[in-house]
Amino acid sequence: MTLHDAYDPDNIFAKILRGEMPAVKVYEDDAALAFMDVFPQSEGHTLVVPKGVEARNLLDMPADKLGPYMATVQKVAQAVEAALTPDGLVVTQFNGAPAGQTVYHLHFHIIPRWKDVTLGRHGSGEMADTDKLGVLADRIRMKL
Ligand code: 5GP
Repeated sequence: MTLHDAYDPDNIFAKILRGEMPAVKVYEDDAALAFMDVFPQSEGHTLVVPKGVEARNLLDMPADKLGPYMATVQKVAQAVEAALTPDGLVVTQFNGAPAGQTVYHLHFHIIPRWKDVTLGRHGSGEMADTDKLGVLADRIRMKL
């Protein structure tokens, strides 16, 4: 997927947004849906995707929807921090395959970091246990 290919409405996050694929949800409002990354790079790795847009990446995002979306990214990041008390928090996103993007619906990663804990590889590794993700999602939700 280059930066200029068309939006694919059958990407996995679009399917999650439409309820066609399962996800361990953390939070939802008018602007965005937050759910647990199924291949987490650290415990509590959460994704926040904008709703109601066909934006492959940040460059595509309508400017008038960016503010409410980023407010939700911040809200969820604050809840992840409050719930899991990491030493640091990576909040990031990738634009285009050469930049590391693998799912082409805009999303921000919220990745808690702990001193002396190595970061897992991006978009690979073992699929997380759904029940364990559910426990983490509950803990984060309690801080929202
Ligand atoms: P990207 O590489 O596009 O920045 O990030 C995509 C993220 O989505 C990766 O961290 C990957 O682990 C995660 N991911 C891929 N497929 C699924 C899925 O079906 N469900 C969930 N919850 N996360 C996914």
